Amino acid sequence: MELTFLGTGICLSPIKVNTGILLEDKDNLMLIDCCGGAELLRQLYKIGLSPQFSKNPKPIDHVFLSHRHPDHSFGLLYLLSDQGPTRKKNPTKIYCSKCTKENMLKLIESTGFSYMLKRIKIRWIVLEPGSKLNIFDNAEVVAFRAEHKNYPGDDGLGFVFNINNKKIVFSGDTKPCSGLVEHGMNCDLLIHECFSVRNKDPAKNHGHSDAVDVGEIASKVNAKKTILTHMHFKDYSNIEQDMKSMVKEVKEYYKGNVCVAKDLEVFEL
Ligand SMILES: [Zn+2]
Ligand SMILES: [Zn+2]
Repeated sequence: MELTFLGTGICLSPIKVNTGILLEDKDNLMLIDCCGGAELLRQLYKIGLSPQFSKNPKPIDHVFLSHRHPDHSFGLLYLLSDQGPTRKKNPTKIYCSKCTKENMLKLIESTGFSYMLKRIKIRWIVLEPGSKLNIFDNAEVVAFRAEHKNYPGDDGLGFVFNINNKKIVFSGDTKPCSGLVEHGMNCDLLIHECFSVRNKDPAKNHGHSDAVDVGEIASKVNAKKTILTHMHFKDYSNIEQDMKSMVKEVKEYYKGNVCVAKDLEVFEL
């Protein structure tokens, strides 16, 4: 199984692409969050998966949306537009909460993209915290509630994937949350947002986790490996040093393997 981080940046990142992770298991491609817009298509093009412009792109049949915020969801419009009616045999299955589905449909309508809903096959699969379902053979997903913000609709979902006996947890955007701990125990890989080091830019004010939170959660769920993503930097001129500081702080609370993901970085599992 292979994971490609299409984007690792927060919403207003000037240099990093917004959140999107591609998970590939044999012939199955799963996209976890959709980056922030057309940048999704540019990233897919770079790895030979552009629906229109790559030679033999594989279809992305499974799309998971953690929540409605633009840095996670706006690329969906571009992905669906680019799939085209003739290029796809199977429907694109979109897994998300009821609230995210409703907001995405409003977005599609308000931006004039409604026409594409008539010409492509989409299947919405609404998940609730605790929902568990088979995605394909030997692949199951469990959703849990991510605790992100206090506005109605901003809370979203995190996901636990069990694929061919590998357990992968994606936190979504969240403060430390009990659902992740409940469902993510003994995972092979924890992908967790890490907004900042502690005290630098209080993550909790924004509904996020800091490096101490991530270290504690990774240790609590006994994750074999932890990858940090969705990082906020006050000053983008020195991010290498800032990323090192985040890893160092996580390591004070977690004895497993930890690193920071970079845009287009690939991990084997
Ligand atoms: Zn975000
Ligand atoms: Zn968010």
